[in-house]
Amino acid sequence: MPAAALSPEILAKYEPVIGLEVHVQLLTATKAFCSCANHFGSAPNTNICPVCLGLPGALPVLNQKAVEFATLAALAINCQVRESSIFARKNYFYPDLPKGYQISQFDKPIAEHGWIDVPSADGSVHTGPPADGSLSPGLKRIGITRLHMEEDAGKSLHDGFGDSATRTYLDLNRCGTPLIEIVSEPDIRTPDEAFEYLTRLKEILLYTGVSDCNMEEGSLRCDANVSVRPRGQEKFGTKAEVKNVNSFRFIRAALQYEIERQIEVIESGGRVAQETRLWNANEGRTYSMRSKEQAHDYRYFPEPDLPPLIVSPELLSETRKKMPELPEARRARMIAEYELNPKDAHTLTASREFADRFETAAKGAKNPRRVANVLLSEIGGRLKALGLEPEQSPVSMAGIVLAADLLDDGKISSKQLKQLFDVCFERGEDFPAVYEREKPEQITDASAIEALIDQVIAANPKQVEQYRAGKKTVAGFFVGQVMKASKGQANPALLNDLVTRKLDA
Ligand code: ADP
Ligand code: MG
Ligand code: ZN
Repeated sequence: MPAAALSPEILAKYEPVIGLEVHVQLLTATKAFCSCANHFGSAPNTNICPVCLGLPGALPVLNQKAVEFATLAALAINCQVRESSIFARKNYFYPDLPKGYQISQFDKPIAEHGWIDVPSADGSVHTGPPADGSLSPGLKRIGITRLHMEEDAGKSLHDGFGDSATRTYLDLNRCGTPLIEIVSEPDIRTPDEAFEYLTRLKEILLYTGVSDCNMEEGSLRCDANVSVRPRGQEKFGTKAEVKNVNSFRFIRAALQYEIERQIEVIESGGRVAQETRLWNANEGRTYSMRSKEQAHDYRYFPEPDLPPLIVSPELLSETRKKMPELPEARRARMIAEYELNPKDAHTLTASREFADRFETAAKGAKNPRRVANVLLSEIGGRLKALGLEPEQSPVSMAGIVLAADLLDDGKISSKQLKQLFDVCFERGEDFPAVYEREKPEQITDASAIEALIDQVIAANPKQVEQYRAGKKTVAGFFVGQVMKASKGQANPALLNDLVTRKLDA
């Protein structure tokens, strides 16, 4: 039933509505309600105790660090934090949930009413809730309904798939791992917006340091809710929930598939069923997993073993003080400070750690903007060509700063810089060592440079004429030619100076 047959006209008749539920594991040392290690990758069933196994009589004690992280994350996505929130039991049976319930939050979550701004394709439409705060053009505000705290369940590991499954193993290490769940308003309108929302959310969470957001290890998981409605209709259509999607690109693909599937159902006179569907990445389609009739009734009730969670005004203000500069603000500042374009600002701020390293290094350089340039064009270009990550660069930030300073002082030409970087990448050596060893010859003798300039001027009368007729940019041509003639060894500052003097003479 792939919907390849739908024409663009039919697709355009409908408007998709998307809301996302994101689960994020918190990077606490211990679990949410016991002192077991919160650690991915330990041998199965080694980080467990009576509390996280739910043995009779064991009592939960809330992890303070988890509360601090949840509060920090909530503030970072513009939520209002509730002074008093309530833990609730979410009851269901599953082999990897030995307690028979999950401690979660229900009608009084720790935080509500937040938002994330995302770039929107269609200019700027604001549908999200809080209208305060200025929204730059081209941005769209996606409302966040709530952020609540809960604990994770264990893991079932199956031998084989489906009918060929023979055994199921249980690893309960993950039981009781602290999670936050972040639920968006149904404000998202396209799979691309969903992708942007998730990208920004992840980036913000990484900057706050509350999670490593590693999707392969399940530290960040997303369920996507999607429906379609005829354009112009106010009432939402019936939604399907897509689970089991483990990358943002797959979520975008799953949403696209699901939108077309639902339109096809409606166009052929059917009704979209309210159900949970699974994404199959190999086949690029979703499958029905359970219908609404089979939906869980979780019988939520307040957790009797835990008192209300109090986030005091003191904790709130302490947390505000700990808030790092967030990615969007940092980009805006760096664009202004280093005269970057938005794309380069994105590259430099891809992680907080990388942006920190860059800025610390740039501050110590003669010309911070040049550090950015060298990093982005010379190092970035080589890394990209070789398919390497920034951490795999042989050239350190200190090496980049030295190179930028040498360029700035005119002690090496940009051609020499390129040659030195080539050596760094060929041999896997840092720049300072390569520079010390191969310190390129530089011609600083004005008369030698003048002789070369005279030759180039004599050989290019037409360009001389152009220059003298007022086209001053032709000077760059002469600089380039002389540099070439000097095999890249002419002192750039001196060369520039002499070329204009000769041409103006
Ligand atoms: P449920 O009780 O089924 O979990 P919720 O009301 O809690 O539903 O919403 C879960 C998510 O689904 C939220 O992100 C919400 O924005 C989104 N959502 C709700 N209704 C719709 C709809 N009709 N179409 C798309 N998404 C929706
Ligand atoms: Mg739900
Ligand atoms: Zn435990």
